[in-house]
Amino acid sequence: MATATLTIDLDAIAANWRALDRMSDPTTQTAAVVKADAYGLGAKRVVRALAEAGARRFFVAVAEEGAAVRQALGPGPQICVLSGHMAGDTEMVHDLDLTPMLNSVEQITRHLESLPGHPFGVQLDTGMNRLGLEAPEWEAVAALVLEQGPELVMSHLACADEPGHPLNEAQLAEFHAMTDGIGVPRSLAATGGILLGPDYHFELTRPGVGLYGGRPWESAQPVVALALPVIQIREVAAGEIVGYSCGYTAEEPRLIATVAAGYADGLTRRYSNAATLWDGEVPCPIVGRVSMDLITVDVSHLRDIPRTLDLLGPMQGVDDLADIAGTIGYEVLTSLGHRYTRRYA
Ligand code: PLP
Repeated sequence: MATATLTIDLDAIAANWRALDRMSDPTTQTAAVVKADAYGLGAKRVVRALAEAGARRFFVAVAEEGAAVRQALGPGPQICVLSGHMAGDTEMVHDLDLTPMLNSVEQITRHLESLPGHPFGVQLDTGMNRLGLEAPEWEAVAALVLEQGPELVMSHLACADEPGHPLNEAQLAEFHAMTDGIGVPRSLAATGGILLGPDYHFELTRPGVGLYGGRPWESAQPVVALALPVIQIREVAAGEIVGYSCGYTAEEPRLIATVAAGYADGLTRRYSNAATLWDGEVPCPIVGRVSMDLITVDVSHLRDIPRTLDLLGPMQGVDDLADIAGTIGYEVLTSLGHRYTRRYA
C-alpha cells in the first residue's frame, strides 16, 4: 500500500533564501527563522540546506529548539533564541552556545549575572505590545547593556503583511528613536518587512515563512507536496450517508474513496465538505466529516482510481488550504503531522 508522503523541497527553500537575500543590500545579512522545527518541516535537514545556501544566523523560539540546530550545524553559526534567557535556560545557553534575545530587564539581569561575557541580543517593543523592552525601560538600561556589547538589537512588526498599514511606519520611527546611534547591528524585518523595502532592512533581516513558500511573499517557490493514499473504494447509493454524524448524504450514486489521513495528521475538521484533493489536475472534493485518521473523497468522475491523491502540490498550496480553513499558511505548515513518510528532495 502507498504511504502518506510529505515531500519537502530543500532546493526550493535554499532558492527562496537566496532570493530574499538578494532583496536587501549586500551589507544587510539575511538570517533564517527555523523555530517550531523549521515551521514543521524538519529543522535538521532545513538548516543544513540553508547553511549551504549561505545562511550564518538562525532564529529559534526556545532554547530546546537550539539543540537540534546546533547538532545539525556544529559550532560556528549563530543560533538566536527569541524567547530570550528564561529561568532554567542558563546551562543550555552556555553548552549549546546560544545567543538569547533578551526581552525584559529581568532577563538582562539574569543573563549578565549568570553568563557574563556570553553573547546576547536585545528585543525592543516598538508598538506590537507582545515582547521586548518598551522605550522607558530601554532608556533606563541602555547604557549598561550597550557597554556589554550586544550582538543585535531587534524589534518585530505587527502588520508587515499589510504594506499600507500606518503601524509599519510608526514602528519604524519608534525603532529609529530607540536605536539610532547605538552602533549595534539592528533587525526589524521578517518576510513581510523585507517586502516593505530597504528602509526596513537595517543590518539583518529574519525571514521565516517566505523560506517555506508561504504568503505574504507571493513569488516564493512552493516547498511542500503531500500525497495521501487511497485505502478503500466503495459505491454509495442515492440517499446513503458517509462518515460521522451523517456529514454527507449522496443525492445520487457516488464512488467514494477512503483516504488515510485525518485531523491527527493536520487535516483540520474545517476541511469537512470544504477542501479538495487532486488527481493531477482533477479536483476530488472531500465529502463528509474529517475524522482522526481518515477522510472520504468523491472520486465518481475519475476513470481510474489512483493510488494517491494530493492535498498539497501544484494545484493547491499551503495558503489555498489556509483560506479554506480560515487560517494562515503558518498554521497549515506547523500542523503537518508526524505520521507522514517524509521525503527530502
Ligand atoms: N521574527 C520574529 C520575532 C518572529 O516571531 C517571526 C515569526 O513569527 C519571524 C521573525 C519570522 O516571521 P515570518 O515567518 O513572517 O517571516
